[in-house]
Amino acid sequence: MISKDNLAKLLFPHSKVREIQDDMILDVDNALKNKKSLIMHAPTGIGKTAGVLAPALAYAIKNKLTVFFLTNRHTQHIIAINTLKKIKEEYNLSIKAADIIGKKWMCLVPGVEMLYSGEFADYCKTVREDNKCEFYANTRTKSKLTVKAKAVLSELKQLSPCHTETVKDICSKYRLCPYEISALLAKDADVIVTDYYYIFSPAIRDSFFKRIQKDVENTIIIIDEGHNLASRVRDLMTERLSSFTVKRAISEAKKFKYNKARESLVEIKNILENLAKELKEYGETIVKKDEFAKKISQIADYDDLVSDFEFIGDAVRETKKQSSIGSVAKFLSAWQGSDEGFVRIIEKKPKAIILSYRCLDPSLVTRDIVNNAHSTIIMSGTLTPTLMYKDLLGFEENTVEKSYKSPFPVKNQLNIIVPETSTKYSLRNEKQFRRIAKICSDIVNETPGNSALFFPSYYIRDTVNHFFTKLCRKTTFLEIPNLKKEEKKELLEKFKSYKNLGAVLLCVASGSFGEGIDLPGVLKCVVVIGIPLQKPDLEAKALIDYYDMKFSKGWDYGYRLPGFNKSLQSAGRCIRSSTDRGVIVFLDQRYCWPTYFKCFPIDWDIKITKNYLNDIKDFFSKK
Ligand code: SF4
Repeated sequence: MISKDNLAKLLFPHSKVREIQDDMILDVDNALKNKKSLIMHAPTGIGKTAGVLAPALAYAIKNKLTVFFLTNRHTQHIIAINTLKKIKEEYNLSIKAADIIGKKWMCLVPGVEMLYSGEFADYCKTVREDNKCEFYANTRTKSKLTVKAKAVLSELKQLSPCHTETVKDICSKYRLCPYEISALLAKDADVIVTDYYYIFSPAIRDSFFKRIQKDVENTIIIIDEGHNLASRVRDLMTERLSSFTVKRAISEAKKFKYNKARESLVEIKNILENLAKELKEYGETIVKKDEFAKKISQIADYDDLVSDFEFIGDAVRETKKQSSIGSVAKFLSAWQGSDEGFVRIIEKKPKAIILSYRCLDPSLVTRDIVNNAHSTIIMSGTLTPTLMYKDLLGFEENTVEKSYKSPFPVKNQLNIIVPETSTKYSLRNEKQFRRIAKICSDIVNETPGNSALFFPSYYIRDTVNHFFTKLCRKTTFLEIPNLKKEEKKELLEKFKSYKNLGAVLLCVASGSFGEGIDLPGVLKCVVVIGIPLQKPDLEAKALIDYYDMKFSKGWDYGYRLPGFNKSLQSAGRCIRSSTDRGVIVFLDQRYCWPTYFKCFPIDWDIKITKNYLNDIKDFFSKK
């Protein structure tokens, strides 16, 4: 156990350090002192945020470094800033912090939330350059800070650490740009709480670091919910061009009287249609870089076409917020990128043809960052196997890997694998779905309280539900795809109100609730049906081939383990506090396969059984 004195030196803000949390604090401190990175599988309840942020801040202040706490979750931004407030209070310490979310979400211009991120970035750039943004003009004149901005900045420094919402409210009162003000706070900050892409999108990082006058070498990077980083970086590095965008670009060229550009865009539309002409609906095929580039070069010189479209895009944005011609330019420019670690695919959807340049290898971006920082600490409740994340993200050989036990009592959680069914593609049939429905209904009917069922897809959820609904004796709630924040909240509130009567939530592992629900005291049972593996499409195949070539682990790294991780995320919704008691059922034969079985958390006691109802009855009969 760490002594009180040492806890104070490490700025730990709470009166008591939890079991396991003390190991974590020491591991973080050691990694920082030895300038190493750390990959931590750290289950819910350990107290990760304080356990990592406090020693990192203590080390950063002493060694003049900056801590970047990266999270894409709004709730985690709040927890991180609250932890810093607590440290400030506890140690009477002046902490300089900045809380920065996506620029679009900080912007006070009405209507910008409707724009895609790329469109917003172009819009903001144009209005700033043309002096057409009132908020920016009130913040800076000829790149110098206005008197009003200086006063607000000094007020916020006094209040620091404060949430981005506070910054927005104050800026709104004085009609200043919250992003500009936050970036100024970041310049002097000891800690910057922000989203992944400020560090992992090369274009954003370079300009952000330049603006706040920091460099990667002098940072400690903490990545929260790190299991998402690989897929987030792949998304960031992927570009798509749809026939829909090209059609909008044609109309735009017509409207703004760019006749030559309109003709070129019509040719591009024809090229897309030609490339996809052999495809059936939902079909897809690989496109070679040169195959598309040569066709474009027949219209005009490739580079000239890109710069003409970029120029027109800028001109269009002088009068409207976004430009489709600008989007075409962005895609054409990205298409010229490297083949290594990318795949190029054209697909035919019912309403559009989509050509994409998709990133397979996130380490092309993450490797330099995580290894050039003083230390990078990546953590998550589901970061198993840690070696996979080390490989996928390109961490150095000397990176420390740690897997901590759950701090919650083992007896509070019954883990069962029921090897009776499978959602494996070749085994899907009505009999299988009826059997899944029967097992699920038996389990939820036996559970005294609320249950959640996580399916690998909406198709399987709906097919099983057709049979399930006739067998289940409880009220059921169905997750709807792409729910808005408020709708999600409303659905969960209704579900929670059945806490005593018991209800069943049927959702999809990669949908709104697979990761994003935290319902302490509400869920008594979670059933994970099947394994939420990626669709076996061309991208999945390319990913498997790529990781086979790179690590001889194509199926594990490219297919099986990312799906298994989603299962663990869904399972993790059940036990959210030390007093929660519940049953987690993995309903698929494949969970018994060594590939998957060995990846369950080390401290889980897992029973493989077909006699699951007796086990569940027994579990709930004990107090
Ligand atoms: S300068 Fe600020 S307020 Fe103006 S558009 Fe950009 S982010 Fe929004």
